[in-house]
Amino acid sequence: MESSSSKNVPSNANESCPGVGSDTAGKSDACAGCPNQTVCSSGEAQKEDPAIAEIGEKLKNVKNVILVLSGKGGVGKSTVSTQLALSLAHQDENCNVGLLDIDICGPSVPRMLGLEGQEVHQSNEGWSPVYFEDNLAVMSIGFLLPNKDDAVIWRGPRKNGLIKQFLTDVIWEELDYLIIDTPPGTSDEHISIIQYLKKAPVTGAVIVTTPQEVALSDVRKEINFCKKTETPVLGVVENMSGFVCPNCACQSEIFPPVTGGAAKMCEDMKVQMLGRVPLEPKLLLSCEAGKCFIAQHPDTVTAKAFVEIVGKVKAASKK
Ligand code: ADP
Repeated sequence: MESSSSKNVPSNANESCPGVGSDTAGKSDACAGCPNQTVCSSGEAQKEDPAIAEIGEKLKNVKNVILVLSGKGGVGKSTVSTQLALSLAHQDENCNVGLLDIDICGPSVPRMLGLEGQEVHQSNEGWSPVYFEDNLAVMSIGFLLPNKDDAVIWRGPRKNGLIKQFLTDVIWEELDYLIIDTPPGTSDEHISIIQYLKKAPVTGAVIVTTPQEVALSDVRKEINFCKKTETPVLGVVENMSGFVCPNCACQSEIFPPVTGGAAKMCEDMKVQMLGRVPLEPKLLLSCEAGKCFIAQHPDTVTAKAFVEIVGKVKAASKK
């Protein structure tokens, strides 16, 4: 999608906010009582950050930007981002893939690809990503931390500044896919990311969840956030969906989907179900070893689930 029409809706705005960039910003009925009304009606908020055009220019050689989102941490968002990137690169050596990890509070992509401690080279043009394979380039905030156990506890403006720098300063070659692993939730950081990508070729978002109701209610928020910001939802991945015993191959439910799980929620919210990934000890090992799961264990239920997910993402993408 050319997301130039994305609505800029601050997270603290009223429900039917017309969007900061709209002609009626600060003036519509929905603006009454909104904390942003003064700044919107003054015209200050409508001025576009020059970084938006710069990011659009920087990403003009990218065909598809795919955002990977989750309502909560620990549901497998980085696992899905990493395996999606590895699978796309593995299935077609002519497909150039980038993986950008902007989960600034818990960047796990370097660990999941065995790239911890790698140095990022900086030139006059910007930062060069680290090449995991000829057709898979990776950039993560984790590469810039002096100590892998450093907690990144920066506050809003500094985080946003870093995200902006990541989007403007990384030199990507021509890419078929740029997978962006985002921080969990629907905070101000997400609003910033969507805003910064307003002129970038965003194809859509993949939302990762687990089957329990507590996780699903966050996903509903995530879907509504996408709708509000006019970001297309490519679909939902239900992760840790059952467990296949490695000894007897019998399948059990670890988190019973009391309310019908992601499938029912997708039906209700009219979004596509991309696939179900079971709890799979071998997947954890592949991630720890930085390996592509579908290449290592092609005959497993889990690999088939990933192939289905990748196929649906490809089908929704520009060729
Ligand atoms: P998030 O990015 O949502 O915080 P991660 O992708 O880092 O979550 O996953 C958390 C942990 O759970 C990681 O150690 C990961 O390897 C493991 N994990 C994720 N999904 C699965 C799965 N389907 N089977 C087994 N382990 C998984």
